[in-house]
Amino acid sequence: MDTLRDICRRAGLKATHQRLEILREMLQAKDHPSAEQIHQRVLRRLPTVSLDTVYRTLAAFDQHGVIARVFSSASCVRYDPAPERHDHFVCVKCNRIMDCRVSGAGRLRVPATVRTMGTVERIQVEVRGVCIRCLNRARGRRRWWKQTPE
Ligand SMILES: [Zn+2]
Ligand SMILES: [Zn+2]
Repeated sequence: MDTLRDICRRAGLKATHQRLEILREMLQAKDHPSAEQIHQRVLRRLPTVSLDTVYRTLAAFDQHGVIARVFSSASCVRYDPAPERHDHFVCVKCNRIMDCRVSGAGRLRVPATVRTMGTVERIQVEVRGVCIRCLNRARGRRRWWKQTPE
C-alpha cells in the first residue's frame, strides 16, 4: 500500500501536513464530497485549516491526477477519490452520486464534428434517477393513503 506521502510525492506535490490530512479524508470518502464537506471532516484533526486551503489543495490534487473533479449536473463541484474512468448514478432528488460502470461507455463514438469543437479528454456517462433511499422515503410517505395494492 502506498502511503499518503508516496501518493503526494509521485504526483510531484510537496507532502505538507495539511495536504496529507486533506488527502486522507478524500481517499476515505465514499460520497463524492464537496470541498465544504471535506473541510468539515478535516477540521476534526486540523482545527485551524481554512476552507480556502481545502479548495486550493483539492484543485491541486485534481490537476495532478490524484483525485478527480466530478463533472455532473449535481448542484456544486464534488470530488472523487478515484481519478480513473467510471460512470455515475446521480440522484435528482438528493444529489447523491454513486459509482457505476456503464458497459461500452468508454468506447462511445464521438461524432467527427466534436473535433471541430476541441479535444476530447474523457467521455463519461451520467445516469440520472431517484436513488433507493429517496424512493423508500417517498414510499413511506405514500403508504398512508394507498389502500389498494398496485
Ligand atoms: Zn436520493
Ligand atoms: Zn465516482
